[in-house]
Amino acid sequence: MEAKEKDSELFNKIISFCKRRGFVYQSSEIYGGMSAIYDYGPYGVEVINTIKALWWKHTVQAREDVVGVDSAIFMSPKVWVASGHVAGFSDPLTECKKCHLRFRADHMLEEIGVQADEKMSEEQISEIFAQNRDKLKCPSCGSQDFTDISKFNLLVKSNLGNFSGKWDSEPVYLRGETCQGIYTNYLNILNSMKVRVPFGIAQIGKAFRNEITARQFIFRTREFEQMELEYFTKPDEEMSEYEKLKETRWKFYTEVMGIKEENLKWYQHENLVFYAKDAYDILYKFPFGWNELEGLHARGDYDLSQHAKFSQKDMNYTDPMTGEKYVPHIVEASSGVGRNFLMLLSEAYTEEKLENGEQRIVMKFNPKFAPVKVAVFPLLRNKPELVKAAKEIFNQLKMEYNCEYDNSGNIGKCYRRQDEIGTPYCVTVDFETLEKGTVTVRDRDTMKQERVATTELKQFFSDKGFR
Ligand code: ATP
Repeated sequence: MEAKEKDSELFNKIISFCKRRGFVYQSSEIYGGMSAIYDYGPYGVEVINTIKALWWKHTVQAREDVVGVDSAIFMSPKVWVASGHVAGFSDPLTECKKCHLRFRADHMLEEIGVQADEKMSEEQISEIFAQNRDKLKCPSCGSQDFTDISKFNLLVKSNLGNFSGKWDSEPVYLRGETCQGIYTNYLNILNSMKVRVPFGIAQIGKAFRNEITARQFIFRTREFEQMELEYFTKPDEEMSEYEKLKETRWKFYTEVMGIKEENLKWYQHENLVFYAKDAYDILYKFPFGWNELEGLHARGDYDLSQHAKFSQKDMNYTDPMTGEKYVPHIVEASSGVGRNFLMLLSEAYTEEKLENGEQRIVMKFNPKFAPVKVAVFPLLRNKPELVKAAKEIFNQLKMEYNCEYDNSGNIGKCYRRQDEIGTPYCVTVDFETLEKGTVTVRDRDTMKQERVATTELKQFFSDKGFR
């Protein structure tokens, strides 16, 4: 009865669904749109907020060893010099000599089944690219004539005025990752909070990258949100903390978010940057294939030492018990909000053929991620007593759950609309409500209906365990 594809057809369906049902729109669409930049619509923003709140709850609030920050998007230009981004935050770029479209060389190689990793050196990728030139074709015009590979820096420049005169001719960038705002606040947090190594600082926020190619919808965008945890460890405990972090993050996806294990897997990077001890990605089986959802890195003391060097500040930590002094090592977990959102849509999108031959689209969201938890309808829209009773129930429930009221009066259509956006329960107010004080509650997945007393409704939903 249930058909679930995992392919490009499914992906195209999800993309058009997102726009049609108010989940995602292209940015500035009325002006022709911005490539690889998206806005989240009324239902999309609910899902996004739930993802972020759940991550925050489990990463910060449920832990005594982690605190949060919300740092500014604009940072001193020196941050990006110290971090290595000005010199080395780049992707391998090639251009079709005929139609002048630009591509990421590592992605072109991947598409013909040749392993190339963005972390490889320019020379390594250039060599592999040269060896495979005869197999590469421009996806737009078919030409096989490409420029040599050059490094394209991903930092997005702003023209923020240099009113303070504190930086010279360097541009102020929009941050390329949120973790730099964590490193630059490490000393503030050590001095103002009761934290002791090992401890973590977490942040959720926007990041900006001049991605060369716009593809795969919200998977790779030029403006996106990251959820990052930087965990500060004793140098000789870095790798044991890294293993713990890997376990925590895997459990977060499988147990907290409820993602099917068969759709997740680990990928260990072979080509590590010189300071890294280890790097893994958690991959998700997106409709267009296995791709990175989150990156986990054991980063040594690189970040704090670089900022110590460039800011001339002492980043040492002194153990209050032993007096031992060291620059903490960092293990990091970095996940993209948009990729989590796309994962949830991919997990949930289902087309079903019903027994009466009808087709329904149903978003089988885990109820905690459903943008609307309960929809309330009067059976008929032209009966004021039904409308009044339905409104009363809606008003009662809306402070507890995100609810939607629909008085279009066609219950079948209301159900289809709510199934499509993944609403777990629909409540219909009918004449029995007026006589006996009960309503029909219909379950999204089983489509079964049951009568529930209006006085029991709040309890009924709270027993279901979602908010
Ligand atoms: P990719 O290899 O896909 O370019 P990355 O290794 O550069 O990603 P990181 O710098 O490790 O990514 O960023 C951590 C996380 O931030 C990624 O796992 C991803 O979820 C998210 N992310 C990174 N770049 C983008 C982007 N352009 N659009 C959306 N999310 C992104």
